[in-house]
Amino acid sequence: MTTPKMTRRSALFAAAAAPFAPALFSTPAHAAAEMMGSAMPSFNRFKLGGFEVTTLLVGSRPLENPQETFGTNASPEDFAALSEANFIPSNISQNFFTPTIVNTGAELVLFDTGLAPDAITGVLAAAGYTPDQIDVVVLTHMHGDHIGGIAGDAGATFANARYVTGSVEHNHWTTAGNEGFDTKVAPLNDQMTFLEDGGSVVSGVTAMAAFGHSPGHMAYMLESDGQRLALIADAANHYVWSLQKPDWEVRFDMDKAAAAATRRALFGMLATDKVPFVGYHMPFPGIGYAEAMDDGFRYVPVSYQMMLNG
Ligand SMILES: [Zn+2]
Repeated sequence: MTTPKMTRRSALFAAAAAPFAPALFSTPAHAAAEMMGSAMPSFNRFKLGGFEVTTLLVGSRPLENPQETFGTNASPEDFAALSEANFIPSNISQNFFTPTIVNTGAELVLFDTGLAPDAITGVLAAAGYTPDQIDVVVLTHMHGDHIGGIAGDAGATFANARYVTGSVEHNHWTTAGNEGFDTKVAPLNDQMTFLEDGGSVVSGVTAMAAFGHSPGHMAYMLESDGQRLALIADAANHYVWSLQKPDWEVRFDMDKAAAAATRRALFGMLATDKVPFVGYHMPFPGIGYAEAMDDGFRYVPVSYQMMLNG
């Protein structure tokens, strides 16, 4: 060995090339295995008291130049520094789209529907559900990546479902002239009921006003046998930039000041109470805790905590 600081990897290559390489390296090569592309499981299920909760990854895609969306009021230097401190690039990010299913034991409740019917029904099948099993569809808000799967060319996706959403949200979009809402949600109005802050979807599922991202955006608190989990939907859309800097403005937040106030109040409560949450756009499986940190919150992804629920 002539290189004093040879790495383990280069040592292996050197061994493979040596004339008296061990048998491990002289076995005739088989055809190389096909590259499979990057992959990730599409659902994650765990218990919460008497409930069963499943997060569903219906889509994921990179976003170039993320500061055009997140931290639009931050300096490029601060944006780059915070990104680097958290081991993520500042010139590209990865977005996730994660509806959640809650089986209360009495009803199967789906929160948000993804971008298109094919995507949500495909992941539902992978997770062991059929669309006609869904009893309740809750829409946290009316952006296209949340309502897109509720209906399509074949009509309503969830044949036996009733629908629940916030009244403020529904009222806003009723007169907004939005094509997605007008074609997919409005035709279901007869089967829809409306909630205010504190309203109940089913027993153990309570609406929490989280306005700002959209005019009537709602988060939901699940509680079963004393265990709690919040579904924060789009109250924060990035696990670093929106948690650590709640006041950094997000292009898609329709009322930026209200969205920032919602982040401070909601994550402040979750941090104090140590309640885990599912974020629709958090890195899959989309579940973490918020810890108070500096002027914001640190996102602490769950590891095995939910598996210990039984
Ligand atoms: Zn969204």
